[in-house]
Amino acid sequence: MYNIVFAIFLAITFYGCVSPKKNDGKIHVLATTGIIADILSNSLDSSFVVESLMGPGVDPHLYKASAKDVGLLSSADIIVYNGLHLEGKMTEILKKVGRHKLVIAVSDGIPESSLMSLGEGIHDPHIWFDISLYSKGLQHIYWTLNKHYPIQAKSSRDTYEKYQKKLHEMHAWTKQRIELIPAKQRILITAHDAFGYFGRAYGMQVVGLQGISTVAEFGIQDIMRLSALIKQYSIRSIFIESSVPKRSIESVMYNVQASGGSVGIGGQLFSDALDSKSKKAGTYLGMLEANVHTIVSSLK
Ligand SMILES: [Zn+2]
Repeated sequence: MYNIVFAIFLAITFYGCVSPKKNDGKIHVLATTGIIADILSNSLDSSFVVESLMGPGVDPHLYKASAKDVGLLSSADIIVYNGLHLEGKMTEILKKVGRHKLVIAVSDGIPESSLMSLGEGIHDPHIWFDISLYSKGLQHIYWTLNKHYPIQAKSSRDTYEKYQKKLHEMHAWTKQRIELIPAKQRILITAHDAFGYFGRAYGMQVVGLQGISTVAEFGIQDIMRLSALIKQYSIRSIFIESSVPKRSIESVMYNVQASGGSVGIGGQLFSDALDSKSKKAGTYLGMLEANVHTIVSSLK
């Protein structure tokens, strides 16, 4: 980490930037995750160019900025990140870059009272799983851009408002779909605690094998705890996540099966990263829809 911070310091001090600034008259926005890049691409017009640091299937909890990323961070006009320590290993670098350019956190648009507390000022970072909450984060980004780039933000206004409408429709649709699962079966077991906001917003009890961050390893006690729960509530399906190795949730399945229980893998959910761009779950809305289909068809 020190080396990267030092590289940025050198770059800013001696060269102005690592990658040459693109003089195309556009505003270059660099988002940390693909989810953020997607909501911004869909909300802004062609006055902006939006790129993402992390690609499909990349776990943001574990992500460290590479030398190439340092160049991207230096040459972008604006950086947008999730915040709440989602990008836990990039905290220092984002702080440094923020001294020289506009760096905005999506989570700054969400009132603290709406965040899920994990105790002592720490909050669950997986805010994109409550669509109506996340739309507030997007509103915060748009308003901040409006302050710094009023002309370009104004020309994006229609695009932004249309996308906000789609988010609100998706929120209502998700609620309706989850209600198709009988109340007793609305238990979502996944690889890590990414779906807390989803559970709160759409009425599901959620349990993860690993905690809020994938940085912490899971142990045999976690497997036993989930296995007992699966048997107690006769849960039919549990879910792997695209950005977490599938062996974690498979070990729970094998443990339940070895002790005479029956549970299967309900499918793969996209939690902290999108699918590749050409796929249906390659966008935020597509990923939400794919998850809801997987959850409802496995638990109904
Ligand atoms: Zn996560």
